[in-house]
Amino acid sequence: MKDRLVSLKKTFVLLHLAAAAALVLFLWAARLAEALGMRCLFREFFGLYCPGCGGTRALYALLQGRLLAAFLYYPALPVTVVILLSYDVRMLLSLLRGQMRYADGIDRRWLWLIPAVMLGYAVLRNVLLWCFGLDVLALCPLPTLLPGVV
Ligand SMILES: [Zn+2]
Repeated sequence: MKDRLVSLKKTFVLLHLAAAAALVLFLWAARLAEALGMRCLFREFFGLYCPGCGGTRALYALLQGRLLAAFLYYPALPVTVVILLSYDVRMLLSLLRGQMRYADGIDRRWLWLIPAVMLGYAVLRNVLLWCFGLDVLALCPLPTLLPGVV
């Protein structure tokens, strides 16, 4: 039991370090893609938003603490962050108390929300774009992560 708890604590720390490294790598790749003028190929070819369009903008807005903007850009990201953070805090508190509650992972009942929000919003914003000419992503100003960096 104690060995499993120590192993769980190590895994918890390693997962957070890996998540931080993945975030830094993603932000670097996103800035590189922007600098190279790369755009969403699905949007370029079909004129529609793909289910991932707006995700990077939402991440930038979320890192700046602009929750409403993040939600407008890509609501699946704030929903995912809330689900992960709620699990993460409960797991951290459990580990600090020396307990192994939540060691089995995230409650799967909440995970269905992520693809549902992602696909639902993809359909909604494409319907708004094609039927009413309302470009939801164009309504929001582009977020910048750092001043002077697009
Ligand atoms: Zn896209």
